[in-house]
Amino acid sequence: MVARVLPFKVSAHVADVLVDWGRAPDDPLYRLVMPHRDMLSPADFAAVEAALPDEERLRRVVTGIRERLAPPPEDPPGGEDGQGLEHVYPDTLLVLPRQGQTCHSHCGYCFRWPQFTGEPGGRRAVHGPGAMCAHLDRHPAVTDVLLTGGDPLVMRADVLADYLAPLTGRRHGHVRTVRIGTKAVSFAPERFLTAPDADDLLRLLDGVVRSGRHLALMLHVTHPRELEPGPARRALRRLHATGAVLRTQAPVVRHVNDDPAVWARMWQEQVELGLVPYDMFVARDTGPRRYYGLPLVRVLGVYTEACRRVSGLARTARGPVMATGLGKLVVDGIARLPDGPAFALRALRTRDPELTGTLAHARFDPTARWWSDLVPYGEHDRCLIPDRGPGP
Ligand SMILES: *Cc1c(COP(=O)(O)O)cnc(C)c1O
Repeated sequence: MVARVLPFKVSAHVADVLVDWGRAPDDPLYRLVMPHRDMLSPADFAAVEAALPDEERLRRVVTGIRERLAPPPEDPPGGEDGQGLEHVYPDTLLVLPRQGQTCHSHCGYCFRWPQFTGEPGGRRAVHGPGAMCAHLDRHPAVTDVLLTGGDPLVMRADVLADYLAPLTGRRHGHVRTVRIGTKAVSFAPERFLTAPDADDLLRLLDGVVRSGRHLALMLHVTHPRELEPGPARRALRRLHATGAVLRTQAPVVRHVNDDPAVWARMWQEQVELGLVPYDMFVARDTGPRRYYGLPLVRVLGVYTEACRRVSGLARTARGPVMATGLGKLVVDGIARLPDGPAFALRALRTRDPELTGTLAHARFDPTARWWSDLVPYGEHDRCLIPDRGPGP
């Protein structure tokens, strides 16, 4: 029932090596990728069930539920180029290559899930490197290009090469940093070991580094067990040999990693493996958020307590970070103010560069899960927290 609505896909490595079937459904890796009844509201679940034998009715019901669960259309705003290029910050361009808009396995909380449902209009992607290059010609202020997906490393090495070559040449000499967001090390380590084009892929990454650019692989790692199997360790060694810097990021999600001990262990093990923790996210308000979502205060508690348990080298991750329509906001803590407690927010990076670094307070609310649930503490806090009125 759930997989009729939300995308479901699991790789052989995840199913055979990562998931502990003896502990399902409570195994965190099982929770990460396998559909669960609670991902839909009881009413939606019943509606799918009732429609089932009738394919046409099912289609209508499913589309309706997907529309309701999908992120708002302006989240984040795509800018002038809309499809497949997100140029929200002057120096950073996100590129979603068409051939990379799937993943080895789908994490249940993925905010890009509408990319994978096959709904018309759900997919945002550039059709080839041409659109990316034309955009870079027009925007010499771009220093960072971020290839994302899906997972760009599902692409064959020769297809990826067509995107990477223009980023390492003289024509776009202003591009100094290339990031590739990927889940491949933990979900499909054979990509770097035994795949027919594994050596080509590593040579390609090596070439980016030799061009003088900074190459950052942004590894999406949700649970420490993902990096424990031998193949993942061997993949990391091969990737390090290219000179790429390997950084990690993930959201805090219920059932999977909502525990400071898990994050402390994950960060420390990552440091030992030569990885740099970069971002701890708040899960976006899209898709099965009723299943994975947590109150902000809980996410903040996981971050703070995990930081207390590790040394400075392992607490390099910014967090908890919300990627909002305004930009990236971090929840720094709870401030005791004269009119009561407040969430202290800081703008890490905003569409309006003037707002970057701004601080603001939101009224403490133990049930708030997202930016849109927050109410400004005072007049001046509206800069980061729009006042949405008394609500329904
Ligand atoms: C997060 C994000 C970036 C990268 O921001 P950094 O602070 O450089 O990591 C760039 N563009 C968009 C749209 C983003 O959401």
